[in-house]
Amino acid sequence: MSRRKVWGIEREILEMINQAARETYPREFVAAMRAEGGIIYELVLLPGSISSDYSATFPLFNLPIDFSVVGSVHSHPGPSNQPSGEDLHLFGSFGSTHIITCLPYDMRSWRCYDRSGRPVELEVV
Ligand SMILES: [Zn+2]
Repeated sequence: MSRRKVWGIEREILEMINQAARETYPREFVAAMRAEGGIIYELVLLPGSISSDYSATFPLFNLPIDFSVVGSVHSHPGPSNQPSGEDLHLFGSFGSTHIITCLPYDMRSWRCYDRSGRPVELEVV
């Protein structure tokens, strides 16, 4: 199997995601992600991206064009990291790599998906 264009994420970024998810709970945390050399190394926080309802992902539709942005990350305030219908709509709208983290927001609670919502491997580096 060939490597995906985006194949890794820095451990520190995953820790930041889970910490932000805990701080935002029970609201959703959402951000865009930047990658370089196939590795996600930065979160892009968007104004108004922390919301009290399921439309938290909405600001991502208004992202400026930025080719280092490879996808999105958001948290679910429950134990499931499966994408919702809204999530699949978002995934298909931009980027190749999307992460959802869920309770308890630890190193096992996240999952990565492609633009069709299929789970994909992401190496922690
Ligand atoms: Zn979601």
